[in-house]
Amino acid sequence: MRKETKCIEAGYTPKNGESRMIPIIQSTTFKYDTSEDMGKLFDLEASGYFYTRLQNPTNDMVAAKIAALEGGSAAMLTSSGQAATFFSVFNLAGAGDHVISSSSIYGGSYNLFNVTMHRMGIDFTFVDPDCSDEELEKAFRPNTKAVFGETLANPALIVFDIERFAKAAHAHGVPLIVDNTFATPINCRPIEWGADIVTHSTTKYMDGHDTAVGGCIVDSGRFDWMAHKDKFPGLTTPDESYHGITYAEKFGLEGAYITKATAQLMRDLGSIQAPMNAFFLNLGLESLAVRMQRHCENALKVAKFLEKREEVSWVNYPSLPGNKYYERARKYLPDGSCGVISFGLKGGRKAAEEFMKHLKLAIIATHVADAHTCILHPASSTHRQMTDEELIAGGVSPDLIRLSVGIENVDDIIEDIEGALKAL
Ligand SMILES: *Cc1c(COP(=O)(O)O)cnc(C)c1O
Repeated sequence: MRKETKCIEAGYTPKNGESRMIPIIQSTTFKYDTSEDMGKLFDLEASGYFYTRLQNPTNDMVAAKIAALEGGSAAMLTSSGQAATFFSVFNLAGAGDHVISSSSIYGGSYNLFNVTMHRMGIDFTFVDPDCSDEELEKAFRPNTKAVFGETLANPALIVFDIERFAKAAHAHGVPLIVDNTFATPINCRPIEWGADIVTHSTTKYMDGHDTAVGGCIVDSGRFDWMAHKDKFPGLTTPDESYHGITYAEKFGLEGAYITKATAQLMRDLGSIQAPMNAFFLNLGLESLAVRMQRHCENALKVAKFLEKREEVSWVNYPSLPGNKYYERARKYLPDGSCGVISFGLKGGRKAAEEFMKHLKLAIIATHVADAHTCILHPASSTHRQMTDEELIAGGVSPDLIRLSVGIENVDDIIEDIEGALKAL
């Protein structure tokens, strides 16, 4: 199946007389005839469901669709993108370990790594995604367990050189984890470029309708844990909480990572996605391919419009010819990047605030990446406690406006922006 077909068909095939749509199994618990039957599930000797905190059939159908779209071997849904990011790293690294991350990642991920996971005893080194080979090489330590990056960084819109980082990670015997939220598997499949694990905030384009917060982790099924036995004891030595099962031996390359994340992390931390939310996510996935195409078409037209306006001082959109990442976007994102654009006005911070007051269609929201066009001026909202100097150091210039182009008629979006520019 091609990606457009997978959006509709993958993950669930109804049998004779069954519901056409995936069923919402809104049940905490599952019934068994004998204690032995249930015991086998608890020992991971048989696969099946017993309690929705660990696994739920609706979630698994939707996860299987995302795994198919990404070209992975297994996937799990989580309650949010934050939970997906956390689990993806914590499944490999614990206190005393070290992880390398691109410095250009979602602010929530940065905080999770730099503050919360740091407090748990995991050290992070942040490297510029465009750093030299020597700098990248220097970041590795004997206790490094993973490398992390974002296909299209939110909000900087830097295109991550997946192939290069995958090669470096593999040379040091560790996997590359890529947050593919903004590109979605419609525009980029990081596994094809060497990534080992892919994460998503499904809250964004995948859901696409401001409906349900969620996340997903996909495993490529290619990283050979046993070849690096000493680095990943959680996968390559017995888990006493499951009668001494060794994940990499029992579930192989394809299943070890996701089974461990489910059996240990979901069991203990309980960040499951509600089955109802998984149903909404699936509805979003069905139209993902057509929506992404429209998001990208609209955003490119808006970026080209902005570029020509004299009130606009700069436009950042990786699919716009002349952009610093244009060539890299053509390599990794040949069908389009995403619907998010950032730009600045000549009048700076003040003009940005004034401009936003005159918009009628574009709503002011912290959210991005869904059907509705929305806009944010971080310096006067989410980042208002920061000084101009702090903003610049954090890669968010005081005049930066983040515009998430929706799938309305692009002429209406452009007219709205034009009206607000004229009002300045
Ligand atoms: C929003 C976002 C997240 C966090 O996802 P939530 O669903 O809000 O928890 C992670 N990564 C990226 C790139 C995001 O845009």
